[in-house]
Amino acid sequence: MKITFFSTQPYDQTFFDIANESQKFELIWNQSSLNEQTAASVNSEVICIFVNDVCNAAVINILAKQGVQLIALRCAGFNNVDLEAAAATNIKIVRVPAYSPYAVAEHTLALLLTVNRKTHKAYNRVREQNFSLDGLLGFDLHGKTIGVIGTGNIGQVFCKIMLGMGCKVLAFDLIANKELEQAGVHYTHLIDLFEQSDIISLHCPLNESTQHIINTHSLSKMKNGVVILNTSRGGLLQTKDAIHSLKSGKIGALAIDVYEQESTLFARDLSTSIITDDTIQRLMSFPNVLVTAHQAFFTEEALTQIASITLNNIQHWKEGKAENVVAY
Ligand code: NAD
Repeated sequence: MKITFFSTQPYDQTFFDIANESQKFELIWNQSSLNEQTAASVNSEVICIFVNDVCNAAVINILAKQGVQLIALRCAGFNNVDLEAAAATNIKIVRVPAYSPYAVAEHTLALLLTVNRKTHKAYNRVREQNFSLDGLLGFDLHGKTIGVIGTGNIGQVFCKIMLGMGCKVLAFDLIANKELEQAGVHYTHLIDLFEQSDIISLHCPLNESTQHIINTHSLSKMKNGVVILNTSRGGLLQTKDAIHSLKSGKIGALAIDVYEQESTLFARDLSTSIITDDTIQRLMSFPNVLVTAHQAFFTEEALTQIASITLNNIQHWKEGKAENVVAY
């Protein structure tokens, strides 16, 4: 059976080829992303897509005409897929609900330690024989209050890491996790989390209720100098509002691995191009902003799991016992 991949990078091929040794699917690689043009050239029942592939109603209708029956997401989030259109065309969607939550949670910690202790600046300074400490002042994480929004697979690992750092951990989720409560995490109202946290980390999915959860209104409730971390989805943060709050000093530091308009930027080398997105350029001009290009998932363990679970999802669908299906 053929599987057409979109938005592939060399590492996808490496990890999927290993996982496919036991499955023997015919893997067709496309570096280009899925869109209305590329959808029209699909010639397989199954396609495999990633976070920034466009899978709206128009694309899904084209895929249905091409005979596609299964869209296998090689990621956890599915906010880029129009589920109503998939249901209307009877195309099933499967995903990788959990691979390595440690990969993303640990990267979130890396971002926090970097923006706080400014190791990225220290690295460059020392290489230029500038051994001064001026401007590198950070703060102890121990004793600080950290607010975690979304305590699913990734959020709960991050909560435990932060408890280990000696932080007071506040959490907001639709469902409280009893194990976390026993470990010392305090579930609270969102407004209290905004008001009391020194650091806020986003680990909820992007949907209608969470879009722009960090905006001028919520920022106005937060402590002056709050540190915001986003390794979840770019649309959780209203970027223009964040820029305003960075200018005023309300946000003390911002570290993001995701960006609302990342699909035109991330996963590409644009070092010799002119970037026309003024918002990201403004964001990156702040000394207290750190941007990584959606790399939180990027560990050997995560890529191994993603490849293996994705191909298993496809195999199970083929056998009529689909699992990890995204409910319409
Ligand atoms: P998950 O489904 O296990 O957990 C999400 C949690 O958010 C759940 O506990 C859910 O109840 C909660 N939630 C839902 N709506 C909420 C709301 N309105 N307010 C507060 N909480 C809410 O997902 P996960 O595996 O922990 O992943 C979290 C997010 O991280 C994903 O949705 C994805 O967008 C993102 N992610 C990013 C990367 C990366 O490389 N940067 C990798 C994987 C996942």
